[in-house]
Amino acid sequence: MTLPRSIRNLIESFEKLPGIGPKTAQRLAFYLLHVPQEQLDEFAQAAENLKKNTVLCSLCFNVAEKDPCPVCSDQNRDKSVICVVEQPLDVLALEKTGSFKGLYHVLHGAISPLNNIGPDELYIKQLIDRVQESGRVKEIILATNPNMEGEATAMYIAKQLRDPSVISHQSLAITRLGQGLPTGADLEYADEITLSRALEGRREY
Ligand SMILES: [Zn+2]
Repeated sequence: MTLPRSIRNLIESFEKLPGIGPKTAQRLAFYLLHVPQEQLDEFAQAAENLKKNTVLCSLCFNVAEKDPCPVCSDQNRDKSVICVVEQPLDVLALEKTGSFKGLYHVLHGAISPLNNIGPDELYIKQLIDRVQESGRVKEIILATNPNMEGEATAMYIAKQLRDPSVISHQSLAITRLGQGLPTGADLEYADEITLSRALEGRREY
């Protein structure tokens, strides 16, 4: 006995998602079979519009509805400080603390040789260009995750920014989030107080 094609299609789609195995994919597909059609349409519509109605900000590469994003176009933000994070959700976590008033730069990942992700797969070159072109950036906060990939990424970026042939101005401070963040953890899961303290306790990197 085989399942109807439309159910098999949905199961296969779910299986492609991270953290979803065959059993969970089956369970989700059969769950949706009992959901009212209206709710299914909403779900399909949300998935359809996910990429259509979002853009990457051409300055910080965060996902937004408009380019430039609300943070980059906010005149009250301190344009001399750029906080470098791995993912858009990290921006959200840092914004929730309310203690950071600078700008962001989203890399969309971290250097991970095991997964074939090198510096060129991330928005690192765009960060270097941004610092070069702006000429008014005084501090770069490396807020990549405190795990192996995040550290490797922070180290790579710091090396690039310290290369006098790449960045010519002397007064650029490079800092890393302070202690308190659990090693190996993801920034987006840190609570607001821990994140605020890590931000305040950032140190020369
Ligand atoms: Zn932006």
